[in-house]
Amino acid sequence: MAQDDAAGIVLIGGGHAHVLALVDLAAAGLGPSVTLVSPQRLTPYSGMLPGHIAGLYRYDEIHIDLDALCRRVGATRREAAAVGLDRSGRAVLLADGGRVPYAVASIDVGIEPDLSAIAGAAEHAVPVKPIAGLLPRLDALRATILDGAGETRIVVVGGGAAGVELALALQARLKADLKAKGGAGRSVRTRLVASSGLVPTLAPRARRLAADALAHAGVEVLDGRRVVAIAADHVELEDGTRLPADFAVVSTTARAPAWLATLGLPVRPDGALVVGPTLQCEVDPLVFAAGDCAYMVHAPREKAGVYAVRQGPVLAANLAAVLRGERPRPFMPQENFLVLLSTADGSAIASRRPFAYAGRPAWWLKDWIDRRFMARFRD
Ligand SMILES: Cc1cc2nc3c(=O)[nH]c(=O)nc-3n(C[C@H](O)[C@H](O)[C@H](O)COP(=O)(O)OP(=O)(O)OC[C@H]3O[C@@H](n4cnc5c(N)ncnc54)[C@H](O)[C@@H]3O)c2cc1C
Repeated sequence: MAQDDAAGIVLIGGGHAHVLALVDLAAAGLGPSVTLVSPQRLTPYSGMLPGHIAGLYRYDEIHIDLDALCRRVGATRREAAAVGLDRSGRAVLLADGGRVPYAVASIDVGIEPDLSAIAGAAEHAVPVKPIAGLLPRLDALRATILDGAGETRIVVVGGGAAGVELALALQARLKADLKAKGGAGRSVRTRLVASSGLVPTLAPRARRLAADALAHAGVEVLDGRRVVAIAADHVELEDGTRLPADFAVVSTTARAPAWLATLGLPVRPDGALVVGPTLQCEVDPLVFAAGDCAYMVHAPREKAGVYAVRQGPVLAANLAAVLRGERPRPFMPQENFLVLLSTADGSAIASRRPFAYAGRPAWWLKDWIDRRFMARFRD
């Protein structure tokens, strides 16, 4: 098929790696060659999501306005979800039936909890991602709590960093709501079900600090227990225990979007695209992938925004290199990184193996890092 002469760089998804790559591509004078395909104008920064839920950040403070960013750097934004690639015709296929031609494309569309692993979850639970779906459900929950009576039961499924932060943020916010509105006779009970223990990837001391923070906040932890089903009014554990639940949030093992497996490119069992050191997909060097939906075969790492952020500049350099017929360079992710978990009480847990610390300075550092990150996309 004939190629479109105007085809340039197409970034699919406004994930962390892509927003940073966009800034760098613009700095390299390539802004006008870029089209960003994204179904939403606002893309959330998950690092600040627990702070937003806890009431510490406004909605606009945790979102990047992709339209404004594209305008500023001279790029084009196409408001649509990608559903596939016509790799021989070099075009991105869109849910609205459109096609966006590319000379080189990159995919950074994130991952979402695999609800199919828990019976009834798709009907009765709220996945933590997409965040655009979570936030209105939380607003609705807050309104119900304030209007209703008695105890509201929340169950967070998943004991990873996101699950712990969510449980703490929800508990803090809902309690504050009740206190502010004089919620006499009303209460909130948050439980966290962690099948593989609390934050299993962190240092042992950080795990103890997380358990302390949850206990201090009044969040009950069901450690080593597995959720097998979710119904309208309860969450069921493997041993048959039923936890009453008015609201169940799922933050468990996640999968990449199913359409990535239809591209004729190698994928992992979790649907992530396999990329080499240059972030190019195996089989097709004109397609890159980054962030949580990519699996770096040369250096596998856990799914974390930190890696997506670090990939951004290398991705930009490599997209530009391929466009100019130059050699792309390898990306080598760090082994270890500083994890900062907000405890929603003005403190945070800082963990970098083997050390861990909890206190206000850790929150100040997290807040400073996150605000500095977001400032890059404003001016
Ligand atoms: C509560 C919570 C807190 C977290 N805190 C941290 C933290 O402090 N530090 C950390 O390192 N990690 C953290 N994470 C993990 C972090 O969210 C992810 O690792 C990070 O978001 C991955 O970024 P990404 O670039 O893969 O894309 P994402 O941020 O997942 O964004 C993907 C984008 O692609 C878009 N998209 C999806 N489908 C399509 C499609 N078909 N077409 C076009 N666009 C599409 C989406 O709209 C979205 O904008 C946290 C996660 C959660 C849930």
